Order: sequence, then C-alpha cells, then structure tokens
Amino acid sequence: MSIFGSSEIDLGCDGHVHTRLCHHAVGEMEEYVAAALAGGLAELIFLEHFEIGINYGQVTWLTAEEFCFYQRQCRRLARKYAGRIRVGAGVEVGLNVDRLAETRDFLNSHSWARVGLSCHYFAEKGRHLNMLSRKPENIKALEALGHDRLLRRCYTDLLLGLQQLKVDVVCHLDAPLRYCQGVVFTAEHWRLIEAILAEMARQDIALEINTSGFAVRGEPFPCVAIIQRARRCGLRFVAGSDAHQPQDVGRFFHLLQDRG
Ligand SMILES: [Zn+2]
Ligand SMILES: [Zn+2]
Repeated sequence: MSIFGSSEIDLGCDGHVHTRLCHHAVGEMEEYVAAALAGGLAELIFLEHFEIGINYGQVTWLTAEEFCFYQRQCRRLARKYAGRIRVGAGVEVGLNVDRLAETRDFLNSHSWARVGLSCHYFAEKGRHLNMLSRKPENIKALEALGHDRLLRRCYTDLLLGLQQLKVDVVCHLDAPLRYCQGVVFTAEHWRLIEAILAEMARQDIALEINTSGFAVRGEPFPCVAIIQRARRCGLRFVAGSDAHQPQDVGRFFHLLQDRG
C-alpha cells in the first residue's frame, strides 16, 4: 500500500542532499546533479548543514566561507544545467535555541531555495551529543540520558525554533534517536508533535518525508502515524533522500507512492 496519493507529493524533486562540503558526506556537488539527472529528477535542492555554537569532537557542518563557495557553486550548476534540471541552494538549519539571533542573521545573509529545520545535537553540561550518529559512544551517552528527556527537550526546542525562525520545511521530524532501540512516544511527546504540526499548518511550513528512514527502519522519517496526523492538519509534504553520497539521490522515492 502506498503512503501518498498521486498528487500529494512531488517525487520529481529531491529536496535534501549533502556533499563533501559538510565533512561527513562524500561527492562533489556536480556528481549529485549528475545522479539526479540520471534518476530522471526535474529538481535537486542541496540542503547543506548549518550549525552554530556546537561543542562536538567533529565538525559536521559548513563554515561561513564554505557556505559562500557552496552558494557560488549552486549558481554555477543552476546555469550550467538550466533547461535540463533545476538546481537550488538550500540549508538544513541545525537548531540551537541559545543561538537563534545569530541563526537568523546567517539565514538573512544568503538567499535560499529552501530552509529546512532539524534537531541534530543535544546540549548537556557544556557539550553536545549528536542524536543522529550511529557511533556507539553517542548512542551510549544518549541512552544514559533517557529517551523521554531527549525527546521532550528536542520537541520543545523545535516548537520554539519554528516560532522564532523563518523556515520552509521541518526535516526528519522523528529521526532524533534514530539509532536508539525501543523508542516509544508517550502522550506528552504526541502532544508536543501535535503542537509542532499545528504551528507548521499556521505558517504553511511543509513536512519533509525523509526516505533515509527506509534504510534504518523500513519506513520514512517521520513514521506513517505522524504523516497521518500531518495530513489531518492539512500540511504539504516534500520529499528528501538525505543523500550523503551521490548514488543515494532520490533513494527509495518509489516506495512513497504507488504509481500504478
Ligand atoms: Zn549529514
Ligand atoms: Zn538532518
């Protein structure tokens, strides 16, 4: 059974890919464009990582200079491939509620094809834990803090971020703790998710259907139960592969829709 009806989501656009510029993906930008063309897509939106004030052992985002280079490359590729595929420069904003003013300033310093909002890092005792990492030391530290505490803070922050920043899409809404086992949403988590969906509806912010979830758990991020609630709120859906290598552009899109 397909998750989406034929007019509910545009599968001709992959709106979430990374490149070697974020230091944890591989592939040149042009290789992603070539993969999108080969896959028959009409549009590709790069959604590179922005983070600010994160104290983590590794840099998983672009510096200010790298974002300038990235923007120039996106414009060059958009010109080069005009008429064959649309290419856009977007940004995946990793939320840090202590740095919202600087985040806003950064967003205002470029023009974006798409601004996505994500929750990647959890602040704890002056350091940050990467909630989307599959490294055992990250997972162990997250398990020690407890799923409930992590999810409550993450969703409370996300709601605040939506109210304070101007964004187009919420990315992989239930991906935090993606590699933790036995994550169960409580009534309080659902209340927060409903509040997030209501705020998105109020501002006409789309919900990303992130197909990288199929590789992790056999359904997209977010899960079908959240998608159904989003549908009841009247939200728009956009598709993203979250590719971190060129061959993953458009990955699993065919599982979203029965083209019958
Ligand atoms: Zn990434
Ligand atoms: Zn992300």
